[in-house]
Amino acid sequence: MSDQSSSSDKGKKRKRLTNYKNWKDTRKSRRENKILVNYGRQHLSRKGRLIAAKKMGDSCYCTKQCETKFTEAERIEIFNNFWGLGSNEKRWLFIVNHSNKMLKNRSKQRGEPVRNRKYTYKYYLPKTNSDGFSQTQIAVCRLMFVRTLNTSSNIIKTAWQKYDENGIIQQDMRGRHAKNRKVSNE
Ligand SMILES: [Zn+2]
Repeated sequence: MSDQSSSSDKGKKRKRLTNYKNWKDTRKSRRENKILVNYGRQHLSRKGRLIAAKKMGDSCYCTKQCETKFTEAERIEIFNNFWGLGSNEKRWLFIVNHSNKMLKNRSKQRGEPVRNRKYTYKYYLPKTNSDGFSQTQIAVCRLMFVRTLNTSSNIIKTAWQKYDENGIIQQDMRGRHAKNRKVSNE
């Protein structure tokens, strides 16, 4: 009787491992999984953990009243467009195109080496005009920007770093060296 329960436990375990192997071991499934990651869909992590799809965050409800500037449907559209871009490079470009990087307290920082300078950012989200085609950039707070796009402060930093280095955003080379990387055979 106790045998029965332990064997059914084993069955469960084996099944999960098999699914995980299917995902991890075929080149096709790896490629498919990468596409899911790039579009913010539900996918498996490298260790085989299920990562939920990206979801749009709540409005900020700050003193600037950003939440009155966009309807929920407009925010969902922005979120869908952002994740529909399908690559980090395109999202970085979107971020750079929808934010401004400015020197903080310019006068105080005069003579300061470039690497020590501090910057402040302004954020904008696109609002489609009544013609249904053209867009106006509406200023929002950082929280509204980050939550609507479901992106992170780190990604904003990375986007600006990439832009500052090259003046343009080049294709991310991560993953190009995947073949050389040692992968444990678990
Ligand atoms: Zn706000």
